[in-house]
Amino acid sequence: MDIGIDLGTTFSVIAVKGKAELAAGSPEGMYLPECDVTILPTPLGEHTVPSVFWADATDPDRVLVGPEAKQKAEEGEAPIMFSKRSIGTDKLLPMHDRTYTARKVAEHVLRYLKDCAERALGRPVRRAVITHPAYFDRNQVEETRLAAIDAGFDMDLPEQMMMEPAAASLAYVQEDPKDPLLVLTYDLGGGTFDVTVVARDQGVLRLKAFEGDHLLGGYNFDRRLVEWVLDKLAAQGRAIPHDEDDADDRARRARLLQIAEQVKLKLHEQRSPKVPVPVKVLDVLVDAAGKKVNFQDRITREEYAALIKDYLDETIACCRRAEAKADVDRAALDFVLLVGGSTYGQWVQEAVEQEYPGKVRVFNPDLCVAAGAAIRAATLPTIAAAAGIEVVIDAPPTSTLPRATISGRLQGEKNAALDLTGRVVLLHTPERIMEAKPTDTGTFAFEDVPLREDEPTTFTLEVTDAKGLNALRKTITVAYAPDGGGAETISTNLPKSLFLKIAEGFKLLAEEGAELPKKVEVTLRRIGGESSLEVPVYQAEEEIGVVRVDNIPPDAGEGSKVVVAVEITDKNSMRGTVKVLSRGGTAVAKEQPVNIVFPPLKVPSLAELQAKYVELEAKRQEDIYNAPDPEQRLRLEGIGAKKSKQAAEMLNKQTADPQEVNRSVKELERLVNPPADDMSPPQGTFRRKVDGCRTMLQSVSGDPQAAPLGKMLDRIEADGNQAATTKNQRKWGMVNESLGQLEDRIDKLVDPNKGGGGPSPPPTPPPPTPLIKDHFLHQVSGLRRALAQEWEKLEKDRAKFDKHQGIFRGRREKIEAGLDQIEAAINKVDDNLESNQGSAQVQLALRPRPQIEKQIKELGEFVATG
Ligand code: ADP
Ligand code: MG
Repeated sequence: MDIGIDLGTTFSVIAVKGKAELAAGSPEGMYLPECDVTILPTPLGEHTVPSVFWADATDPDRVLVGPEAKQKAEEGEAPIMFSKRSIGTDKLLPMHDRTYTARKVAEHVLRYLKDCAERALGRPVRRAVITHPAYFDRNQVEETRLAAIDAGFDMDLPEQMMMEPAAASLAYVQEDPKDPLLVLTYDLGGGTFDVTVVARDQGVLRLKAFEGDHLLGGYNFDRRLVEWVLDKLAAQGRAIPHDEDDADDRARRARLLQIAEQVKLKLHEQRSPKVPVPVKVLDVLVDAAGKKVNFQDRITREEYAALIKDYLDETIACCRRAEAKADVDRAALDFVLLVGGSTYGQWVQEAVEQEYPGKVRVFNPDLCVAAGAAIRAATLPTIAAAAGIEVVIDAPPTSTLPRATISGRLQGEKNAALDLTGRVVLLHTPERIMEAKPTDTGTFAFEDVPLREDEPTTFTLEVTDAKGLNALRKTITVAYAPDGGGAETISTNLPKSLFLKIAEGFKLLAEEGAELPKKVEVTLRRIGGESSLEVPVYQAEEEIGVVRVDNIPPDAGEGSKVVVAVEITDKNSMRGTVKVLSRGGTAVAKEQPVNIVFPPLKVPSLAELQAKYVELEAKRQEDIYNAPDPEQRLRLEGIGAKKSKQAAEMLNKQTADPQEVNRSVKELERLVNPPADDMSPPQGTFRRKVDGCRTMLQSVSGDPQAAPLGKMLDRIEADGNQAATTKNQRKWGMVNESLGQLEDRIDKLVDPNKGGGGPSPPPTPPPPTPLIKDHFLHQVSGLRRALAQEWEKLEKDRAKFDKHQGIFRGRREKIEAGLDQIEAAINKVDDNLESNQGSAQVQLALRPRPQIEKQIKELGEFVATG
C-alpha cells in the first residue's frame, strides 16, 4: 500500500486512499468521505504531526519527532523547527553543539511518518507520494526526494513528487464534478504562501500559473507578535538581549514563539473582534543582567489583524499577480480554495472574502494536501519483484474506454541491469493469453486490452526467465468507468525559467511553468575561435552550472553553430549533449555531454548580510550624488531609501531570518547595482510609462472607465514583468505596444480635448506579426478542441464506436497531422516581418484549414447519421 505525505513546514500529514482497515490496537484514523481518503494516526492518535525534530545532547541517536520534540521547547531546549524553509540551501541548523542540514531533518521526520503509517496499517510501506510547494526549484524537490530515500522509501518514479496545490485541487475535485473548472488555491501554511490557478479541462488538471512567497506564513505572524512583546518591553526600559549562537537564548525564543502561536489560536476562537485575549509571558525571558522579566498585556483580534496587515495585503497582491499571469478573467473563477492551517484565521478569511466576495471555499485546510497525495499514490504503477527481477507495471486503475493499455518495464532488482535474453511477458486476460517481448530497454506494452463492462477485470501478468519458465507473477485489476471514476492527470512544471547566458544577453531554454520533462534544442553561433567554450546556465537570477566543450578543432571556430540539445528532467537535472558543428556545415566537429545537477542555494549568515548591507548602503548614498544617470539618482533616493530602510529594519530585529534578510538585501543590490538591461525598449521606460499611466488614472478615479483601464494596466504590468524576467523579447515587444495604446486611451480620458477639434485620429495600424500569429494559433487550438468534442461524442455511442474504431482513429490521426502542419507553418513565419507580409504568410499557412474543418464536421456527422 502506497501512502501520501504532506511534508509541511510546521505540520505533516499522512494518508491513504479509501477507507483503511487499521491494525488492531491502532488509534483511529480520520476518514474523509468527500475525497475517499483516510488520514492515518500517529501512535498518540493525532492526525497532524508537528514537523519538529530534536536529538539528545549527549546521544545523537536518541531522536524525537513530532509532539514530543515540540514539547522540548517548553522544557527549555530548542528543537529544530521550520527546517523546510532551508531545504536546498547550505544553511546549517544548530542544536546543542551540533548542526543539521534541512535534508537530514526531513529524513528524520519522514522516517517517523513512515513508522507511524506502518504501525497504523500493520504492514510495511515502501512507496510514498510526497508533496512540495509549487515554487520549489528542482534542487529543493530533489533534496526532499533524497531525504525520503534515506528515510527508507522507494522513490524511483517522478510522479512520486507532487506540487502541493496540485494535490489540494486533486482532493477538492473529487467532490466537485464541474468540468471545465477554474480554481485559485490560496495556500497559507506555517512558513510558506502559495497561490496557484488550476484549471480542469476534460478531466485533466493543469496548473496555469503560480505565485507566492516562500518566506510568508503563520511563522511570520507569530514573529510579529513576538516583536510586539519585545517592543513593548523595550519601551518600558526592559530590553531583552538575544544571541542566536546561545542555546539558552534559542530555547527562550522558541518558547516565546510558541506562546505567540497560542495567543493566535485563542484569538481565532474569540468570536468578537473587540474582546481582548491575554498575552502572558511568565518565567521565560531574562534581561541583560540575567534577571527574570515577566510580561502581561492584552490584544484584540482587530489589533492583531492590523499588526499583520502588510502580510495579508501581500498575499492578495500575489493572488492578483497569479490571475494576471494565468490570464484569467476574475468572473470565470469558480472558487478560491483556502488551504493551509493559517487560513483558519478569520483575519485571513476576511481579507480573501473582501477580495473575492462569495467565492471563498474552506476545504479541509490542513488535510487536503495529504489527501491529494494519497489519491495520486493509489495510481502509482505497481511494482512487483521476485527472483531478482523487478517489473514496474503501468496499468490505469480505471479507464473511460472499455479497453486499456497495460505497459511496463523490466529491470533488475533495485534498478540493477537485467539480462533480457529469452524473456517474455505474458498477460492472462479472462479470454486469452497475450504475449509481449521486452524492448532493449526492458519496456513492454499490451495495447487495447478489452475490459469487462459489468465488473472490474483482473489480469495476471507473468514474466518468464530465459528458459520460458515462470519467474514472476502479479495480478492487477482495471475497472471500466465510463464517467471517469475521478481519475485525473496532473502535470509537473518548471518553477523558474532556465537560460543560457550568451554574449548578446540571455537565451531562454525553458520558461517558468513549462511541463516537465521537456526536451529543448537551442542553436547558438560562436563569436570566438578558441579551442574551448563555456556557456553559463541560469535559473532565474542564479547561475547554476555551465555547458562546456573542450578541444574544439580549428575548423569549428568563429561563426560555427553550437547546438545544445538537452532534456530538463522532472528530477533535478539537465542532461543531453552539446555539439559544435564545423564552420558552414552540418558535420559534428566535437560533441560533449551536458550533465548539470542544480546545486544548493547559498544563504549568507546574518553577519555577512550586515556587512553586505553596509557596503550597499554606502554605495547608494554616494550614487545619489554621483550616478551619471539622473533617473538612477532619483530611484536611489526614492524607492532605494525605502528598500534600504526595509533591509535595515529586518537586520535590526531580534527575530531576523537570514533568508528573508537575504532577499531584502538582494532587492537593494538590484537597485544599487542594476543588472545590464538587455530588453528593448528598456525596462526603465516601461516602468516609467506604467507609473505615469497609474498617476493619470488616479486623477480621474471617479470616471467609470478608470477601473477597467486600471485592470488592463495591471495585466500589462504583470505581463511585462514576466516578459522581462523570462527575457522574452517577443512578448516584451507586444506588451510595450499594448502599453502604448493604453497610454493613448488614458490620455484621452484625462484630456478629451487633446488635439481637440483637429483632424480625426490616425487609423489604428495593423497588428504586428507576432500578434497575428498568436491570433491564428489560437484558432488552431479551437479546432483541436472541436475535434476533441466530436471524439467524445463518438466514444459515447459505444457500440458503433467499437465497430468502426479503426476508421475513426485513422481519420482522427489525419486531422491531427493536418493541424500540426498548420501550426508548424505559422510558427515558422518570421516575427520580424512587416504586418502585411506576416499576415500574407500566415494566410498561406492556413490554406488547409477549410478542408480540416470539413473533416472534423464529417467525423461528427458520422455520429448523427451512422
Ligand atoms: P505547513 O503546510 O506550513 O506545514 P499548515 O498548513 O499545517 O502548515 O499550517 C500551520 C500554520 O497554521 C501554523 O502557523 C499555525 O499556527 C497555523 N494555524 C493552525 N490553526 C490555526 C488557527 N485556528 N488559526 C490561525 N492559525 C492557525
Ligand atoms: Mg502545507
